[in-house]
Amino acid sequence: MAEQTPVETLAFQAEVTKLLQIVANSLYSRKEVFLRELISNASDACDRLRYEAITNPALAADDPEFKVVLTPDAKARTLTITDNGIGMTRQDLVDNLGTIARSGSAAFAEELAKTKGDGTDEEKGKRDDDVALIGQFGVGFYSAFIVADKVEVTSRRAGQSEAWRWTSDGKGSFTIAEADRAGRGTTIVLQLRKDQAEFADPDRLRTIVKAHSDHIGLPVMLAGGKDGEETLNAASALWTRARKDVTEEQYKEFYQHVAHAFDEPWLTIHTRAEGRLEYVTLLFVPSTRPPDLFHVERKAAVRLYVRRVFVTDNAEGLLPSYLRFLRGVVDTEDIALNVSREMLQHDPVLARIGTAVVTKVLSELEKKADKDADAYAKFWETFGAVLKEGIYEDIGRREQLLKLTRFRTTAGDKLTSLAEYVGRVKDKQDAIYYITGDDAAALKSSPHLEGFLARGYEVLLLSDAVDEFWIPSVGMYEGKRFVSVAQGAASLGPAPETDKKDAVDAGELAVLLALLKQSLGTRVKDVRVSDRLTDSAVCLVADERDMPRHLARMLKAQGQLKDGVASILEINPQHALIRTLVAVAKDSAQRVQIDDVGRLLLDQAMIREGDPPADPADFARRLSDVMTRALGAK
Ligand code: ADP
Ligand code: MG
Repeated sequence: MAEQTPVETLAFQAEVTKLLQIVANSLYSRKEVFLRELISNASDACDRLRYEAITNPALAADDPEFKVVLTPDAKARTLTITDNGIGMTRQDLVDNLGTIARSGSAAFAEELAKTKGDGTDEEKGKRDDDVALIGQFGVGFYSAFIVADKVEVTSRRAGQSEAWRWTSDGKGSFTIAEADRAGRGTTIVLQLRKDQAEFADPDRLRTIVKAHSDHIGLPVMLAGGKDGEETLNAASALWTRARKDVTEEQYKEFYQHVAHAFDEPWLTIHTRAEGRLEYVTLLFVPSTRPPDLFHVERKAAVRLYVRRVFVTDNAEGLLPSYLRFLRGVVDTEDIALNVSREMLQHDPVLARIGTAVVTKVLSELEKKADKDADAYAKFWETFGAVLKEGIYEDIGRREQLLKLTRFRTTAGDKLTSLAEYVGRVKDKQDAIYYITGDDAAALKSSPHLEGFLARGYEVLLLSDAVDEFWIPSVGMYEGKRFVSVAQGAASLGPAPETDKKDAVDAGELAVLLALLKQSLGTRVKDVRVSDRLTDSAVCLVADERDMPRHLARMLKAQGQLKDGVASILEINPQHALIRTLVAVAKDSAQRVQIDDVGRLLLDQAMIREGDPPADPADFARRLSDVMTRALGAK
């Protein structure tokens, strides 16, 4: 090209610079992962073109055999990776290789911001953290700088005539200039660092491709040898192979490729359906939580292929969002490819396949739960909160999902199923008791439990936000009602160890209750005697038909609720403080103190639940006054 545009220099997005500093300085031991990342990008690029070419065959017609070619040059110390995929426009190069766009590296950057400042830190410990992070999230294209000190990307978008070259030394900026390129696709030239010359060695490349990229569904070739081009991988999509022909290691590599993950799959499900519906699934349950699991979109992330052609990685109609932790591939023979992605999402065949896949996944989970409770408990800790969404979103599978659900309870540290809970209940107990809150450990010391524990009842400790939603929608399990220990009247009767003659005089207690009600006014809905307390003086409970206090707290935190509903303050007549107050209430000279004490008791009950006192300044003043009086100062 005669008159080319001048070279432009552009700055990386700040997060990229940060990330590149870490990548360049990391002592990451598995440096060869860069190749997997670049081959995986090349393969994605071919997948995307293959799909576009269905409606626009001209795009791929000039060069129809998709492939990735590696060309090492030991003398120049370079490694070149070329693909004939979809390619990138100038804008694509700037957007994709100048910012952190994809979820994997975005999560990396987010984690990084949480743990530290700028990655130039010399402290060994911090650097180890970074390396661990790279291991956990991967850094996609930018991993090229693990082994290269200069990277050149020349790309031509399919269907376009101009090509562009992106270059960078990974130090804050990159350049863009017009370039020449014979056909469509992308060529990446890595100028290898002095100590990374091994990646220009054909033998080393053979080994790496075999280990990490064997599953790629198109040929990965080695060029420059005496016999011309040599194919290094099996070049058939992994899911199309028979289960017996795939090793654990290969499944793992494939999982890491499709999931952009670096952990091990917790469960691998590889099935082929033949008959009315024809499809293959290769699905994985990760062993760690993907960072975007609770983003608002709640999208499933399984890749949909139609006859080996990649269609989309979030097929809406395929899997329900409560299985959005699944990663992998569904490939079907039964859908026409020449319809738009939009239409495809709503193809009834897709929904039927989805239903069959859900059945399969749930039954595999059930098997795992039966066979290995400890392993299942790990899964549950990681994804239980997501799976539980299905209890109210997928009524048809409710029973099955309830069976898969596990709970922390007051009866020990092991997770428990509902069936186990029901198997342990006391004679005549017709309720399944539970308590909700933000944190299972904190719930364990909640005052609301005291009376139930004293009478030998087991209580489920529910600390996921979804618990507030599925419990009311289920209501009963095996004829037993779900009952919150923090709501309504406990109706437990006297505690087993209560001594009759020790009881407080009912009339005197009524005087105290009346004074407290007067003092607290509309701050509470009622003040009453509790039988759910044994050690604590007071607690707050929601009235039977009101919104649970934990739910109100959650909605307030999200700005969806302005004022909560007033709660009921329950007092424990056996408690020394309440006994003293009963005496104080009788004495008209001292009675004024009830006002301060009442307000303090309410604030204390709030604090116990993790809420701030309604008016912290007022709380502090009253507390000081009471302490001053108690300590006898004038
Ligand atoms: P990811 O592959 O997860 O999207 P990467 O950092 O590996 O993230 O790549 C960033 C983006 O750059 C890709 O999403 C893709 O749009 C683009 N890209 C990278 N390599 C290629 C390539 N060989 N051909 C076309 N586009 C590419
Ligand atoms: Mg990538």
